[in-house]
Amino acid sequence: MLHKLLPLLLLPLSGFSQSFSPLLNKETETAKEQYSQWYQLLHANPELSTQEINTATYLKKELRSMGYSIVDSLGFHSFAAVLKNGSGPVLLYRSDMDGLPVKEETGLSFASKATFKKEGQEIPAMHACGHDIHMSSWLGTASLMSRLRKQWSGTLILLAQSAEETGQGAKQVVQSPAFRQLPGPDYQLAFHDHAALPAGQAGFCDGFSMAAVDMMNITIYGKGGHGAAPHQTIDPVLLAAQYVTAVQSIVSRNLSPNDPAVITIGAIHGGTAGNIIPNEVTLKLTIRSYSEATRQLIFDRLKTLGNHLAAAAGLEKDKMPVYDLLDMSIPSVYNDPALGKSLRTIITKEMGEAACTTVPPVMIGEDFGVYSRQSTAIPSYLLWIGTVAPERMAKSTSGKEELYSLHSSKFAPAHSLTIPAAVKMMSSCLLHLFKTKP
Ligand SMILES: [Zn+2]
Ligand SMILES: [Zn+2]
Repeated sequence: MLHKLLPLLLLPLSGFSQSFSPLLNKETETAKEQYSQWYQLLHANPELSTQEINTATYLKKELRSMGYSIVDSLGFHSFAAVLKNGSGPVLLYRSDMDGLPVKEETGLSFASKATFKKEGQEIPAMHACGHDIHMSSWLGTASLMSRLRKQWSGTLILLAQSAEETGQGAKQVVQSPAFRQLPGPDYQLAFHDHAALPAGQAGFCDGFSMAAVDMMNITIYGKGGHGAAPHQTIDPVLLAAQYVTAVQSIVSRNLSPNDPAVITIGAIHGGTAGNIIPNEVTLKLTIRSYSEATRQLIFDRLKTLGNHLAAAAGLEKDKMPVYDLLDMSIPSVYNDPALGKSLRTIITKEMGEAACTTVPPVMIGEDFGVYSRQSTAIPSYLLWIGTVAPERMAKSTSGKEELYSLHSSKFAPAHSLTIPAAVKMMSSCLLHLFKTKP
């Protein structure tokens, strides 16, 4: 509990009296062409999770020219760029680097035409989750913090992470010896772009803001035979149908109505022909929750229901369903409320009240949560950043235009408005947090 109180004790009582906005406005105005160049280059050249080699090489080259030292070997192509600038707090700011296997349909002049080979097949790639917005804003902040180094004192760790989309990247980073040798951060920050907020607006969600994600494959066994003689078989198709229905009672009847969770069975495979009862059926699930207790309760109930239904169908102990939790689990994102209060105060002061809004939690996952689940919990915050241009926002409110979601092939953030605002926002937060006492 103590760590939750710590940020309040650390932050200055003066309420962040200094104002950096004239300086930040001037810097971001001068650099806006550079932001667009970075964005368009990164957008046109996405790389899939764990394969971000050219992206990482490019980012490192830019960061070296800004005076950062590069720390490699953080798993896949993840790396850190470190600026040690005297004594003071250690702040970590993370960006992810991976694109998605989506064929871009934005019609932009710099749209991605990139493809990758996977198991002999050509796979298209696109920055459909806006990780290119994250990287460009991150580079912009890196440049600004380097240029303004007389304004702050401490250590800035800029973390570039591989494989966010597959839930593998952050786990590799925190397990890597090179990461453990970096100075321990006092605060950890990141952005995620938001497909329905006005460009440049920060979205706050204190506490649990994104869900823990688990993927599970379940094999339900039976005893196959002729479709015309079902009494001589144990039908796994019927059993699977009963199971899919029974599972719906977990969220609706075992969890508190105030405790959100999702169990989706997204795939079901079994059988070959109408007159054959197969030996087994496989199900593929995604499970979303916030707390560890809820996550465990869901696992327990999935097993209890499956085993009891199998037993009721007449299956012996050696034919109970097999529950295979895939190695793709990520914890929920917990945004430290005290840190959130400080960030909101800072952004409101530097960019005005309209720059901040509150957004509800969502059940999508983000592996940023891995960083705050390290041995000592570090106050962390994943801020949303809006990406919708004002004219599109107005058209969508009046129902004249559809806003495309993250992961859509038509997702096209208003980068020229979003990136300068994100740089200003993150730089304000870092500059003020560096004034707190470690
Ligand atoms: Zn995504
Ligand atoms: Zn993302």
